[in-house]
Amino acid sequence: MRIVLPGAIAALAVLLAVSHVYAQQEASPPNAGAQTPAALVSTPGQTSCPGNPHALGVSRTVEIDTTGGPLFGSPEAKQNDFLQPGKIVLTFDDSPWKGRTPKVLAALARHCTKATFFAIGKHSVWYPDELREIAAAGHTIGWHTWSHKNLFKLTEEEGKTEIELGLAAERFVIGDAVVPFFRFPGLRHPEAMMAYLGQRNVAIWAADIDSKDYHLRNSKKVIASVMTQLTKRGKGIILMHDFQQSTADGIDTLLDDLQARGFKVVAVRAKGQIKSLPAYDAMLTANADFQCSRAGKTTIPAGAPKPHCD
Ligand SMILES: [Zn+2]
Repeated sequence: MRIVLPGAIAALAVLLAVSHVYAQQEASPPNAGAQTPAALVSTPGQTSCPGNPHALGVSRTVEIDTTGGPLFGSPEAKQNDFLQPGKIVLTFDDSPWKGRTPKVLAALARHCTKATFFAIGKHSVWYPDELREIAAAGHTIGWHTWSHKNLFKLTEEEGKTEIELGLAAERFVIGDAVVPFFRFPGLRHPEAMMAYLGQRNVAIWAADIDSKDYHLRNSKKVIASVMTQLTKRGKGIILMHDFQQSTADGIDTLLDDLQARGFKVVAVRAKGQIKSLPAYDAMLTANADFQCSRAGKTTIPAGAPKPHCD
């Protein structure tokens, strides 16, 4: 998967991030190999895990000021690289999905570790309980548009709707548990949408290591893909999909392997919150897909005409 990112906007995003984010180095080791981080308040994490002496745990938690829409996990945003060697951030896209998301959550719980999920609006209203499970387990939840369209193929207004309708759906299901973190579908970053998210003070997450689970469709190959790239790079933000069966099947072994190889998990949190816009909340409740979804059906008053659903 290629990152498509106009240079000028990338530079702007980095500048904004650097100027708006607070930095506090890890107490130890001091800046061992990483770029001077941009935007962080860092606190030590939890490493004890009852019942699993070989748990990954969380080595530290980084709180990110999303003012101005900083970019993370991209070669264009090296200044925002906050990871020391051996450190990883676990991220899952296209969340949530029946059966698969709970499997990923169970593996993360067994390791007492935390990840970041980028949820799709439609998936979230189809499977609201699964999204609530992610939130209840204390993971970070950003979003990933309403319906996972390639935003390069849309007008600015349509792209904005994909972004805002997705956020409205997340907030409908989990309220303040959705934070100002966003990942573009296909890691395709249109300039106008980067600028828009900057105005909305939403951090944009690319990835250092793409598991390519959507392509490999085999858990052993997914594990090999991640471990090979990680061995080469030594650290990074890892992109997987709880939506993909290959990742749901392989995540237990992958976490075991990461722990055995000595990698440490960094959890990421947002400093502020994000609210949906009332116009898009109204658009959501008027949307036929929403009305026919498990979450949407709860909004139809008794006696009101039912939408036509397949
Ligand atoms: Zn995706």
